[in-house]
Amino acid sequence: MKTLKIAIQKSGRLNEKSVELLKNCGLNFENYKSSLISPVSNFPLEILFLRDDDIPEYVQDGIADLGIVGENVIQETEVDVAYLQKLGFGKCSLKIAVPNNNQIQQLSQLNGKSIATTYPVILDKFLKKNAIQAEIRTISGSVEISPGLGLSDAICDLVSTGGTLKSNGLTAFADVMSSEAVLIGSKGSENSDLVQELIQRVQSVLRAKETKYVVLNVHRDSLPAIIALLPGVKSPSVVSLAEENWVAVHTVIPERDFWDRISQLKQAGAQGIVVMPIEKIIL
Ligand code: ATP
Ligand code: ZN
Repeated sequence: MKTLKIAIQKSGRLNEKSVELLKNCGLNFENYKSSLISPVSNFPLEILFLRDDDIPEYVQDGIADLGIVGENVIQETEVDVAYLQKLGFGKCSLKIAVPNNNQIQQLSQLNGKSIATTYPVILDKFLKKNAIQAEIRTISGSVEISPGLGLSDAICDLVSTGGTLKSNGLTAFADVMSSEAVLIGSKGSENSDLVQELIQRVQSVLRAKETKYVVLNVHRDSLPAIIALLPGVKSPSVVSLAEENWVAVHTVIPERDFWDRISQLKQAGAQGIVVMPIEKIIL
């Protein structure tokens, strides 16, 4: 059987979460920081540790069958790969920001201005789409200091919390793209049974992350009201308790509206609510 290769970031913002996801998929491997390749002992797979910028091309050229990388890097390198699954981590936005004291408030005011970025391809497309003529200054890092140094009027950079912009006296004023880590594959790789098996494992881990397992006690009289609050679940398990007319309800609740849902359940008579993480959900 062919051994697959998956490329992940060697070190940086996506490394830890990528390793964690693969481990949660039941893959056994050593995460040696010094090695480039790590074999998986219980699946025909090798893990390649690379700089994130190199991952899209390795996957496009088939040197790696799969890769985990930010959408921003895929768009910037303009590769032809298959998007297999969004992964829900590494979330950030590529934004245009200007110095706080600047009068620029509308996109059209960027005409004739200079913008420093490490994402010239994405920025160029964005400016063309919005019919803005600005000069793109491509630099290799520390974009946020360039207006202060007089190198550019604005910047286009990745932002997650906005803390870096703030500490450099910059305000974000236009969204260019939002990004998260995605699983990509070489074109056609999705036809392989092994790749499908991996995608399914990844999806079962992601589904589990999005939900919590909840057990609660309720008097039988309040049971219809409780069940009405659990629209996502066709039929929760209801187990009789030793105390007459009391039951335990077992169900799963989406992480998204978790606290709202819990307080509604309490109001409807739920008691002794126990919440547990779920490891995997296999459909
Ligand atoms: P490498 O050494 O692999 O080239 P890098 O310095 O280019 O690493 P990191 O800073 O580790 O990259 O970021 C990797 C990815 O993490 C980004 O491409 C982006 O998709 C995502 N990311 C999430 N939040 C942020 C953020 N606040 N700033 C930068 N990248 C972020
Ligand atoms: Zn990089």
